[in-house]
Amino acid sequence: MTRRIVLATGNTGKLKEMHEIFSIIDVDIVAQSEFDTPEAIEDGLSFVENAIIKARNAAAHTGLPALSDDSGIEVDALNGEPGIHSARYAGDDESNIQRLLRELESVVEEKRTARFQCVMVYLRHANDPVPVIAHGVWEGRILRTTQGQGGFGYDPVFYVPERRCSAAELMAEDKNALSHRGKALRQMLELLQTNSSN
Ligand code: IMP
Repeated sequence: MTRRIVLATGNTGKLKEMHEIFSIIDVDIVAQSEFDTPEAIEDGLSFVENAIIKARNAAAHTGLPALSDDSGIEVDALNGEPGIHSARYAGDDESNIQRLLRELESVVEEKRTARFQCVMVYLRHANDPVPVIAHGVWEGRILRTTQGQGGFGYDPVFYVPERRCSAAELMAEDKNALSHRGKALRQMLELLQTNSSN
């Protein structure tokens, strides 16, 4: 029987990327919005804690196994900020980018290093005492201006050294092959496939 999993995110950019990767396996993925799941309060101090909070919230509301993603961008010149606060750094995607560019105005090229982090958590049910946890990282640099129209969030200012362009200039499959989310998802799929009790 096809397994049904609720995706514990309302972020359409994330949902699209996760759907693309999950299309290769026999799992019925349903967005939490289809169940009118209320947004979880992300008051954890780490990506792992926030990912668990989100998965637990979706599993409790729907009664289904849940998969969550907590991600963000860590900028070295800002001591790792915005990090877990990436989504609400200034408000929406556009103002988050403008704030980041302002904060880094006087920072030289070689000090503009940054990385995306993604932690994914799978819970079989809301009280699952053994969450499955996957993690992916993507190293890059913060550009001085936006470049490209694709992706979401900080993609237009995230320079990808291996492709010499911004994340927003990558094709969707190319971003999935390189990104923090792609890495975490592939690791998660392996963990779920090797452990049949999941
Ligand atoms: P979350 O919903 O708290 O996990 O928010 C993650 C935030 O990090 C997003 O709203 C984006 O601002 C940022 N982010 C995470 N992954 C990406 C990505 O792949 N590209 C661009 N921004 C991202």
